[in-house]
Amino acid sequence: MKLFEQQELTVYNSLSKTKEKFTPIHKGAIGMYVCGPTVYSNVHMGNCRTFLSFDLIFRYLKHLGYKVRYVRNITDAGHLENDGESGDDPILKKARIEKLEPMEVVQKYTVDFHKIMAKFNALPPSIEPTATGHIIEQIQIVEKIIAEGYAYEKNGSVYFDVVKFNEAHTYGKLSGRQLEDMITNTRELAAQSEKKNPQDFALWKKAEPQHIMRWPSPWSDGFPGWHLECTAMSTKYLGNNFDIHGGGMDLKFPHHECEIAQAEASTKQSPVNYWLHTNMLTLNGKKMAKSTGNNILPNELFSGENDVLSKAFSPTVAKFFMYQAHYRSILDFSNEALLASEKGFNRLMEAYYNISSLSASDKSSFNVTQWKQSCYDAMNDDFNSPVLIAQLFEGAKFINSVKDGSETITEADIQLLEATMRSFIFDVLGLVDTASENTNDGNKLSETVELLIALRNQARTNKDFATSDRIRDELLEIGIQLKDGKDGTSFSIN
Ligand code: AMP
Ligand code: ZN
Repeated sequence: MKLFEQQELTVYNSLSKTKEKFTPIHKGAIGMYVCGPTVYSNVHMGNCRTFLSFDLIFRYLKHLGYKVRYVRNITDAGHLENDGESGDDPILKKARIEKLEPMEVVQKYTVDFHKIMAKFNALPPSIEPTATGHIIEQIQIVEKIIAEGYAYEKNGSVYFDVVKFNEAHTYGKLSGRQLEDMITNTRELAAQSEKKNPQDFALWKKAEPQHIMRWPSPWSDGFPGWHLECTAMSTKYLGNNFDIHGGGMDLKFPHHECEIAQAEASTKQSPVNYWLHTNMLTLNGKKMAKSTGNNILPNELFSGENDVLSKAFSPTVAKFFMYQAHYRSILDFSNEALLASEKGFNRLMEAYYNISSLSASDKSSFNVTQWKQSCYDAMNDDFNSPVLIAQLFEGAKFINSVKDGSETITEADIQLLEATMRSFIFDVLGLVDTASENTNDGNKLSETVELLIALRNQARTNKDFATSDRIRDELLEIGIQLKDGKDGTSFSIN
């Protein structure tokens, strides 16, 4: 029996605004789509929070025994400034500034994104499609929407007719916005636009001469609207109706609202059963964002090179810090909070490694089976990682009490405790024991330097001063200083 048949998972669905029992369309298999990054600059910690929240969800679903097809796209075209609607294309802008081909910009930041995700030990998605790789599919959807009567062409561009759509469907059901209110608020803008109504959004844009990312279409040489790529790629790989669609809360409107409208208009089906939205990581109480510069980059965190940081933090500690908050809560980034998380993480790891040295008794003074189920209950309750971590600390407290003799545990419970801790810490949360990793690397480095010191001593004994000096000088060049004293040679690393 698979774990998912024993555990009842509930998820908060942003569409119904309630927690619902999770039932996938096909038993044992899940389709999940998450909006990926727009690749014109390095991802910041806010972006990382969203992707790491979905990594946790992906990991837990897999842990429960589901076969998950996780699709996360790369936005490499069509996402204009101002909510993807008007103004410059940031990829083209960056290409102009850096004198690069737009696809060089895309490549550079896609590679950076992958590197950062690997540092965080995030699992790669099952499919990572790009907008530019799905232009034909996007054009086909525009044709369908026009055929259904929900889009119109104007001067080579095609717009989605929101008012027409709203006559037979509900536009605004995800974000809770009323079309009438939106129209009242934007009445005066309507005149300057090609659109019939300011709420209409672009499905296809005719490219201006300077817009070099362009493709032929029945309407013009142009490019797709931002919202269209996610409809094209999610339905292509997951079907017209799939289980989970995720992204940051800031994407609910207009991006996800428009995705629902496009899918309903072209397939007559509701595309997604469960909409999951992550809350924002803030810095100084304000949303971390690329555009405002109010952000911290992961590499600044790993090196400590940012004024708000007193030291460097490992990717695992940063992840632990983020998972100590629920994915739907706002989380404020601060040096103090990271320091506290680092301490907590080290305490948890120390307790985990103490398990192997516990001595067994014939009775357990703590119900390990029940505790294990509380770990599952936490994750079954809309992936409540802070409650899971609190449960792991309960386990750690018990381990420490057994160690100091105030509690007892049986051999079978030692095994159960170890296996449960291991699977939640490493598989579900995807944390890495950086302390022991560093120590291992540190040991390897010391052993290597000790070997070089021995070779240098041998060279000196043989009066081969060229070799002995070379070892000393070249080590110094890479920041390792040898010090000769009366007890032999020691070294320091600068
Ligand atoms: P973008 O590259 O701007 O399309 O953003 C990629 C993802 O990061 C989207 O799902 C956004 O919702 C999410 N995101 C952007 N800023 C933040 C933030 N401050 N906190 C959490 N998620 C964010
Ligand atoms: Zn999207």
